[in-house]
Amino acid sequence: MESVKYLIIGAGPAGLAFANMLKASGEDSFLVLEKESEAGGLCRSSIVDGAPLDTGGGHFLDVRDPEVVNFVFSFLPEEEWDRYDRISRIDLGNAVIDYPFESNIWQLPEDEQVKHLVAISRAGCNLGKEKPELFSKWIPWKLGEKIASDYMLPYNSKMWCMDLDEIGTYWLEKLPDVSFEDTLLSCIRHSSIYESLPGHASFYYPKKHGYGKVWLEMADAVKDNMIYDTKASELDLDGRTVNGHYKGEYIINTAPWTDFDHIDGAGEAFMAALQKLKFTSVVIKYYDETVDTDSHWTYFPEESKEYHRILYRSNFCRGSKGYWTESNVKRADINDGRPCFVNEYAYPVNTTDKRQAIALILEEAEKKNVYGLGRWGQWEHFNSDVTVKKAMQLALRFGKGN
Ligand SMILES: Cc1cc2nc3c(=O)[nH]c(=O)nc-3n(C[C@H](O)[C@H](O)[C@H](O)COP(=O)(O)OP(=O)(O)OC[C@H]3O[C@@H](n4cnc5c(N)ncnc54)[C@H](O)[C@@H]3O)c2cc1C
Repeated sequence: MESVKYLIIGAGPAGLAFANMLKASGEDSFLVLEKESEAGGLCRSSIVDGAPLDTGGGHFLDVRDPEVVNFVFSFLPEEEWDRYDRISRIDLGNAVIDYPFESNIWQLPEDEQVKHLVAISRAGCNLGKEKPELFSKWIPWKLGEKIASDYMLPYNSKMWCMDLDEIGTYWLEKLPDVSFEDTLLSCIRHSSIYESLPGHASFYYPKKHGYGKVWLEMADAVKDNMIYDTKASELDLDGRTVNGHYKGEYIINTAPWTDFDHIDGAGEAFMAALQKLKFTSVVIKYYDETVDTDSHWTYFPEESKEYHRILYRSNFCRGSKGYWTESNVKRADINDGRPCFVNEYAYPVNTTDKRQAIALILEEAEKKNVYGLGRWGQWEHFNSDVTVKKAMQLALRFGKGN
């Protein structure tokens, strides 16, 4: 049995950030178990057709927290990154408009603008109607029937490939109501109503590498504590052991809870909660044609297209050509001869009962000194910078932070 104080499962951004926080505090009794032969998780990159391609999908650094910025740039300095103002679009098949939709209705033909204005004026949220619980009803209530039917419903159906009513609406609560007055004003003025985009208004991308580079640097900084090609299959909560071979005083789990073959020491309620955790898988496929666009990425709600998003890498990755697509695995043809990467665990699904399920799992595990961390450990749509922040916060709880 190999025993350490902290046993970390998974070398994605969450596990790597936590390990580096330990190291920075002078703690050396830790091990990171990673099932793949390389660190970085969903943020990894590969060289495809002579340039980096992010195998987990389009990854960009948009950090607002100064502590996280300093931490990330201490592994890949700011001068090694390009900074871009985001250009992203929605391709409706018969028209292409800037993102976000509600802010750029003025770019559509006039008759379409009128239909949108009518629909927005009748949106449930603007009429004071009660908020629906079901996602498929919530979308038109929030954005109007026309944005719902032309974009949000088909896009979400493609992206999730599941009954949309299994998805809750609690994670979208902060989305502002679409305003009839603002939309009308933007159509009259022919300009956007928002000053900046909701997310990734500007972002960083490495100059010479893919997004995976910074995480490889983090892994290198703790290389003596890393064990690759080792899947944590058996987790014993009471003994705090993994695969009957690695023991931790504390276990930090960043792997999907559902990825273990066995979890010993978990009660019935824990195992029942595990069954409720859902996820979707994403396929990244490379195309070598360079498209004539200045967009960094474009969303495609059209049902006839396999993918829901295209990333034009030649517009953000120096010295590259071509583009890659993101598709739900249920829609993707992975045998068409194009280079492709399947990410089994891509999106945790915010199902209606997820919050209670993950809260129970985290609470029960913590009683046994096993902590869930990151996108899968906490089953949340965290971006990589947020997982770094969460790792810092957890390290602080152990007295291992600044
Ligand atoms: C399509 C897409 C686009 C995204 N775009 C962005 C973006 O633009 N910007 C951004 O900041 N974030 C983005 N994200 C989110 C980002 O990928 C995550 O925030 C980040 O990867 C989470 O890090 P993590 O360590 O929590 O999980 P992961 O990256 O999933 O890492 C988990 C690690 O655990 C390992 N592992 C899994 N199971 C086991 C096991 N049983 N035993 C041992 N090891 C195991 C995995 O191999 C992996 O290395 C995007 C995600 C997706 C899917």
